Formats: sequence, structure tokens, C-alpha cells
Amino acid sequence: MKVLGANELIADVQSKGLCIGCGACVDLCPYFKNHRGTTVSLFPCTSATGRCFAFCPKIEVDLDELSKAYFGNAYRAKPLGEYRKILIAKAADKTGKGDFQAGGAVTALVISALKSKKARAAILTDSSGLLPVPKVVKTAKGVLSCASSKYSAAPSLSALNRAVREGLDNLAVVATPCQSLSLAQMRLNPTGMDNFRDPTAVIIGLFCTWALDYGRLEAFLKDRLDIKTIKKFDIPPPPAEVFEVYTEGGKLTFPLSEIRGLVPETCSYCTDMTAEFADISVGVLEGRPDMNTLIIRTERGERFFDDAVKKGFLITDEMPAANLEHLKTAAKNKKQRAFVKGSSEGRINCDAEGTRAMMRLGADVLNEIISAGGAE
Ligand SMILES: Cc1cc2nc3c(=O)[nH]c(=O)nc-3n(C[C@H](O)[C@H](O)[C@H](O)COP(=O)(O)OP(=O)(O)OC[C@H]3O[C@@H](n4cnc5c(N)ncnc54)[C@H](O)[C@@H]3O)c2cc1C
Ligand code: SF4
Ligand code: SF4
Repeated sequence: MKVLGANELIADVQSKGLCIGCGACVDLCPYFKNHRGTTVSLFPCTSATGRCFAFCPKIEVDLDELSKAYFGNAYRAKPLGEYRKILIAKAADKTGKGDFQAGGAVTALVISALKSKKARAAILTDSSGLLPVPKVVKTAKGVLSCASSKYSAAPSLSALNRAVREGLDNLAVVATPCQSLSLAQMRLNPTGMDNFRDPTAVIIGLFCTWALDYGRLEAFLKDRLDIKTIKKFDIPPPPAEVFEVYTEGGKLTFPLSEIRGLVPETCSYCTDMTAEFADISVGVLEGRPDMNTLIIRTERGERFFDDAVKKGFLITDEMPAANLEHLKTAAKNKKQRAFVKGSSEGRINCDAEGTRAMMRLGADVLNEIISAGGAE
């Protein structure tokens, strides 16, 4: 990976409308800040290289380099990425009661990691009203209070930068696929820092088809309801095609066709539905709102997962074959759509000579995904 600086980050990502506001460049230095979902640069920076650029998931991410470091092979055309096993799970009573999005497997994994001291703290996303709020959490009570999905893109990784500055390490991080990509880059110490230590104990990735732009969501909802009464959001699996808003007065349902206009353009270039560079990825399970789908990807992920099961935080079962097929199709479609779009607009590089783009991978794999979507 060629590491450049803040000016190139602004030119390649922010000025092109590709920033998703993940927070990876925020609070590393005094310059980049996130205000209500938008990341801005407060002052010009003259450094030729910086962690802001190196950690950003929207710079020219080298998928082959990351995949070799993580999984020992170049990036392959697999809809769900590389993995060891796929199963379904939910939080056991021992996890405690929370307003879980689905089965509460994410909350169970994080509480298990904290209680067994495998993680010193967790990087999570809470909310204040509608606004997602990044948090450093050290207790089970704190983890339970962060449960449920905030469907706006959140600057969660700014909390990781703050935690590292305060000397914390061994962090359990819950991250969307773009945030997981950023964390995977961080783990490789791309700026060659002396005394580098991987700040993450485990990356728990969330499935994500798209997120919403905070400002647009707020404007949309303000016109339709009292946003102070919102308790929770949900996007039930297909064929529902609706966005549900749970309020103190009951549930409101909006067709997804009305909501799609609130999705930032950058999500349409995102090739990853299942957080392919997380240690464990978690999503919902079609037809079973009480359960989660879990993809165990790395040895590290497997250790955290096994421990959570052994200590009684997680209850597991086999993944039904029909659900697995649906999941693969959804992930394959997202990947194919994004690679076709990115490639047709010259945003993907397959050779060393190309101008700076959004992503780099082998030409054979790119062609395989574009023509067929890839196969398991
Ligand atoms: C923007 C977004 C889009 C999603 N799209 C899909 C999808 O297409 N298909 C699918 O199967 N699942 C999707 N999910 C994941 C799903 O909603 C659940 O998060 C997942 O199944 C875990 O459920 P759970 O009951 O274990 O979570 P819980 O135990 O309730 O824990 C949820 C965790 O998510 C974290 N979190 C909440 N909001 C955010 C955020 N905006 N950014 C980062 N972290 C956050 C919290 O810190 C919390 O720890 C999406 C989630 C988000 C945030
Ligand atoms: S690191 Fe995240 S917040 Fe910063 S420019 Fe890149 S996408 Fe935006
Ligand atoms: S679709 Fe991709 S870029 Fe958009 S929020 Fe989800 S993971 Fe991030």
C-alpha cells in the first residue's frame, strides 16, 4: 500500500463524495473531526504521509495485500469472503437483557470478551436521540445499553483512536464492513510505526447492505414524526422491503423505495456485505428474528467465539441450507453491482501503473466477479 497524507485523503475521498464518515481519520490529530455524521478537516496539514490516509477504507485499498496478510491467499471471488465456519446463534440468558437488534449475539460476544479479560474495553456505537455516538465501554451494563442497530453511518472508529491515545489496547471492536476494512489496514501498521501494537483484540463485523446519511435521515423523519419519541429501527429481511421505526406511540413503516434516497452514494461502490475482514461477522437470519447468522473467519475469531459458547454466553445451532444460499446470493449481488459500477467509472486498479483509485485487486478476479459474481 502506498501511504500518502491528509491532502490526498481530501482529494481522493472527501472531495469525491466517497467518505462514509467511519471515524478512522478522526481524533488521530487535531485536524479531522466528525460533526453530526460528516467528517471535516479543520486546518490544512502538510505531512506527506499520515495514518488518516493509511486507515481510510475508501483510499486505494489493496485487497490482495490485505487478504494475503489475513488469510494467506490473494483476494478471491467468493461472495462471503474467506471463512472457517458459518452457523446461527443467539445470546443466552447469562448475557443479560438488552434491546438487541436480533438474537443479541454481538452483545453476547462482547460481554464474554470483557468478562474473560480477553478484551480490556469495547468500541461500540450508542445513540443520543437519532445521532449515533461512538463509545469506549468497559462494563457489561455499558455493552447492553449500546445494543441495537443505528442505521446511520457512524464515526465509531473515532472512539478507537481516543482509546489508543489513552493507552488502552486489546479492544473488542464492533464495526460495519467499511470500518472492518479500515481496522484490517490498521492491523498491518501501514505507516511503519515503531513500538506498534495491534489495538484490536477482536473485530466483530456487522453485515451491511447500506447505511443512511445522518443528516438526510434526520430531515426525512423530522417531517413525519416527533424524533424524540424514536426507540428503535429495523429493516426486516426480504421480501418485506420496509424500514420500520419503533416510537413511544407504536411502529411506523416506510417503503424502502422512500428510504433509498437517504443512502450516501459511497455505499453504492461498497463491495462487501458481510464484513469480510472481520474476525467474526454477524447479521440477521431471514425468518428468525430471535437469531443471528455468524461467520467465523479467523483463528482469533474462533477463539473468542468458542470461549463465549463454553462460558454460556451464546447458544448456537446449524445454519439452515436455504438461508445460506439466500445470504450468498445477496452478498454476490452486492459485490457484483459495486464492482461493475466501480470498474466502469475507472475506480478500480488492476495494475501498478493505474492512477490512484478506490480499490486494487487482480484483473482475473475482477473479471470473474463482474461476469459471474464469483462462486463458493
Ligand atoms: C448500518 C447497518 C446496516 C446493516 N445492514 C444489515 C444487512 O443488510 N443484513 C443483515 O443481516 N444485517 C445488517 N445489519 C446488522 C444487524 O442489524 C445487526 O447489527 C446484527 O445482526 C447483530 O445483531 P445483534 O442482535 O447481535 O446486535 P446487538 O446485540 O443488538 O448489538 C448491535 C451492535 O451494533 C453496534 N452498532 C449499532 N449501530 C452501529 C453503527 N451504525 N455502526 C457500527 N456499529 C453499530 C452496537 O455497538 C452494538 O454493539 C446492519 C447493521 C447496521 C448498523
Ligand atoms: S477514514 Fe472514514 S471518515 Fe475519514 S475520510 Fe476515510 S471514510 Fe471518511
Ligand atoms: S454499505 Fe459499505 S460503505 Fe456503506 S456503510 Fe455499509 S459497509 Fe460502509
